[in-house]
Amino acid sequence: MSKGKINVAVENIFPLIKKFLYSDHEIFLRELISNATDATTKLAHLSSIGEIKGDIGLPKIEIKIDSKKKTLRVIDQGVGMSMDEVNKYINEVAFSGAEEFLEKYKDTAQDSGIIGHFGLGFYSAFMVADKVEIITKSHQKETGAHWTCDGSPEYNLVKSDKKERGTEVILHISKDSKEFLEESRIRELLVKYNKFMPIPIKLGTKEVEIPLPEGAPEDQKPEKETIDDIINNSNPAWTKTPKELSDDDYNSFYRELYPNQFETPLFNIHLNVDYPFHLTGILYFPKINNDINVQKDRIQLYQNQVFVTDNVEGIVPEFLTLLRGVIDSPDIPLNVSRSYLQADGAVKKISNYITRKVGDKLSSLFKKDRKAFEEKWNDIKVVIEYGMLSEDKFFEKAEKFALYPTTKGEFLTYGELEEKIKTTQTDKDDKLVILYTSNIEEQHSYISSAEDKGYTVLLLDSPIISHLIQKMEGSKDKISFARVDGDSIENLIKKDEVIISKLSDKEKEKLKPMIEEIVKENGYIVQMESMDSKSLPFVLAQPEFMRRMKEMQQNGGSGMMGNMPEMYTLLVNTNHELISDILKTKAAKKRERLIIQALDLAKLSQGLLKGEALTKFLQRSLDLIK
Ligand code: ADP
Ligand code: MG
Repeated sequence: MSKGKINVAVENIFPLIKKFLYSDHEIFLRELISNATDATTKLAHLSSIGEIKGDIGLPKIEIKIDSKKKTLRVIDQGVGMSMDEVNKYINEVAFSGAEEFLEKYKDTAQDSGIIGHFGLGFYSAFMVADKVEIITKSHQKETGAHWTCDGSPEYNLVKSDKKERGTEVILHISKDSKEFLEESRIRELLVKYNKFMPIPIKLGTKEVEIPLPEGAPEDQKPEKETIDDIINNSNPAWTKTPKELSDDDYNSFYRELYPNQFETPLFNIHLNVDYPFHLTGILYFPKINNDINVQKDRIQLYQNQVFVTDNVEGIVPEFLTLLRGVIDSPDIPLNVSRSYLQADGAVKKISNYITRKVGDKLSSLFKKDRKAFEEKWNDIKVVIEYGMLSEDKFFEKAEKFALYPTTKGEFLTYGELEEKIKTTQTDKDDKLVILYTSNIEEQHSYISSAEDKGYTVLLLDSPIISHLIQKMEGSKDKISFARVDGDSIENLIKKDEVIISKLSDKEKEKLKPMIEEIVKENGYIVQMESMDSKSLPFVLAQPEFMRRMKEMQQNGGSGMMGNMPEMYTLLVNTNHELISDILKTKAAKKRERLIIQALDLAKLSQGLLKGEALTKFLQRSLDLIK
């Protein structure tokens, strides 16, 4: 038997790191600025605990581009490194000075926001540079160090006479990475990744006008002044507490996050937990319309104020990807695959926490000002309904604030709705019948006929409503949703007094084939129905179950049913005068005309009268009034 250590040859590993460490070359800048930030944060920490005496000033980070020399420099005024430290932290790949610092100062530096972790970030510089130099001087009394490496595992380390504390990293940008010598490209990257980092980052200078003193003569020209161009807001709103922030602050931070977004968000949720994981952030509810797919994926994910991604899939529940804002957590293991993330215990907790917070916020908004909540309902319902559908916990919570608007403009909670209709809207099995419409315009005649009879009709028009209805029916006892045009009201809702048909069974038997003969090409199923005499003579209904099956199919269900044709039932109102007239009419031609006219009216009210049939109907109607 033998034991040993696997020998990893640096020559082989080094090119791999360069090539495959990160798929995106542009992140080298984020890594270098993270290191410069860490060095400055460490300095501030050591100063705060008295290990560094004297004033450390206001350290900043500077990025300098020299297109002639083809260099990009990242310069900081942080702790710097001694020769020994360069040997330890830079020459040993995968040894993280950040981890070591946190370990050493774990009592005080736990929440200091140190970014580094794996001891690999620095080497990403070689993805874009042929040669990298580090010129550094420690904050302690040590001589400076100058390290040079051309991307082979061999480096050169000599003394440097650098005077000021801090580190300068010089990248000699390679030929195929020329883009990183363009100021506009670098500015773009800084804005993307570093916009909210805690240490000021300077890229060049800019000219600003000095405001004129009060009472200055009108023709006086304001003087100009050259100042550092600082690209970041080192104190973003989410790092503050809600007490420090006004509505205006929240709104202007929203604009900072989404400069191209002109709408004001409806409200926000400030997230802040310390235990059992660290997470801060602000989520905004924007106005959300029915086209949900284009509105997804706007939440930005940060780790210690460093931008990581705007793909939060797997970290927040799907329905919340419709929101906007930022989440900042050092505890999300972003180096692992997304599918693994969903199974990760810590991430699950984060996701549950966010869901709960959103539920609590909605609850409290509803309680505090119901009127205002109702006014926002149409802009936020998609998120809430989506959440109810996909998260059981949220479904339970939403019972208190999810609203069901009626066609008359009321907004009812489920409890209120039940209370309102429990004695008047039940079917023959004593199930509660919840009448609804998906489109007030198209189903107008059905709605008004239900309203005339004193029934409550809900307006449910979200894109996912048919799924939510299924879920509601499955989770509550004895309720059934029925779209107003699904069947005759008389069939849907049980009445104490039964409407007696004006036609005898014999008459019905005579009438039915007459009608069937004429409508057969439409494929309608003819059904005699004893309805209210004020209802239309013919009513076209699309059976609820058929419609739902079709909807499921359209929503990406299995293609099992093939292309299902539309299927309608033609309800013949045996109590309508016209129906009695049809029966009495002897002349076959005239009878046919009456039936066709009644049929066209039914089609018209279902929005089905089109093309030639519509033209003919118009002509017939004109003939009638002549
Ligand atoms: P990590 O940041 O994950 O620790 P890096 O490879 O990015 O790993 O950096 C390795 C180490 O090198 C850092 O932990 C730090 O000790 C040291 N270092 C890198 N850049 C600087 C800098 N600008 N100033 C001081 N120390 C630095
Ligand atoms: Mg690092």
